[in-house]
Amino acid sequence: MNTTLLTADKDPMGAAIYDYNKRHKAEQLRVFSSQFDEDEIPVKELFRTEKQMPLLERTALQLAAGKILDVGAGSGCHSLALQEAGKEVHAIDISPLSVEVMQQRGVRHATLLNLFDEHFCETYETILMLMNGSGIIGKLENLPAFFKRMKQLLQPGGCIFMDSSDLRYLFEEEDGSFVIDLAGDYYGEVDFQMQYKDILGEAFDWLYIDFQTLSLYAAENGFQAELVKEGKHYDYLAKLTLK
Ligand code: SAH
Repeated sequence: MNTTLLTADKDPMGAAIYDYNKRHKAEQLRVFSSQFDEDEIPVKELFRTEKQMPLLERTALQLAAGKILDVGAGSGCHSLALQEAGKEVHAIDISPLSVEVMQQRGVRHATLLNLFDEHFCETYETILMLMNGSGIIGKLENLPAFFKRMKQLLQPGGCIFMDSSDLRYLFEEEDGSFVIDLAGDYYGEVDFQMQYKDILGEAFDWLYIDFQTLSLYAAENGFQAELVKEGKHYDYLAKLTLK
């Protein structure tokens, strides 16, 4: 697993978050992928309030208890909502500019840290991974290492809340059947690269995983997956607990 941090010159999302926090507006945050057409992330949405969050995210916030780890916390939207609810949360991100913004916005415990950095060894009752939180696992083959890491960070009886999407709808034919190349890579493995102004980030792997595949890997790695809630468009919130 990659355990590095971003540097400010290769941190496009952090730069967009930084600008938006300062000026309440930002330029286009562009997203490239070898699998999809060019897209953009509306920077404003990274600053969503609890009311503006999708139901899956609000559900995860409500269920989060005890000492909470917000993984890949971005602008800190979930951490701020948890703090307001009187909960204890530690926000981590590999983006230096995002961590600076979180500190400016009042996230009390925000650290520049990679989830997979094994020097980091606190434990938590709840681990939150939101906005396609499975993404940072990168590829299916990284799931065993991911679950191993989660065992180190979870307190006994603790759990992970993670949201993701089943990308099978991208392969749906007009008659409702699905054409998926079973011999190829898993269809939820994608690559992305982002650009903000002239700041171009490195390309990275991003995993979308359907609930059934997640459950299988969880079971093989000592975890149990529970489908907490389904969203409107092939998305869902899962709860992962140690068996
Ligand atoms: N959770 C936020 C941001 C999601 S974007 C929200 O819902 O708005 C994903 C975030 O994960 C980015 O800020 C990225 O810098 C961070 N990230 C990616 N890999 C990471 C890792 N290994 N450890 C910690 N953070 C990571």
